[in-house]
Amino acid sequence: MNQNSFNQIRVNVPGLGCWLTLLGLVWLLGAVGLGWLVKSLAALVLLVLAAPVLAFFGLRFWLRRNLVQGPCPVCDTPLTGLKGTETRCLNCGTVLQTEVDGFARVAEAGTIDITAVEVTVEAKPVLPEGD
Ligand SMILES: [Zn+2]
Repeated sequence: MNQNSFNQIRVNVPGLGCWLTLLGLVWLLGAVGLGWLVKSLAALVLLVLAAPVLAFFGLRFWLRRNLVQGPCPVCDTPLTGLKGTETRCLNCGTVLQTEVDGFARVAEAGTIDITAVEVTVEAKPVLPEGD
């Protein structure tokens, strides 16, 4: 009975012994006169813990500034690209330049960009003239 409850406590708090060891080590180092070592280690640990968070927010900030979303000017497929880079439309394969507010076609100098409109002609019976 007594041994069983002891086992339960040991299973429930597996990290406590580790933390107690760490605290004891910190206290021991401080007592010996190596408080500066503890402080520098703590600073190092804080730096290691803070670096991913800072990197995450930095990346988010950078993406918000440099990620451009907009439709393809040729086929209106929604696209995402990095500002100042060339990308290719996944739907129609047009090479596009990513600009501040959307995408533009990369065309050689002197190329005139036109929009083709498909016109359907209904077949009408041709009436003979002069009847
Ligand atoms: Zn397209």
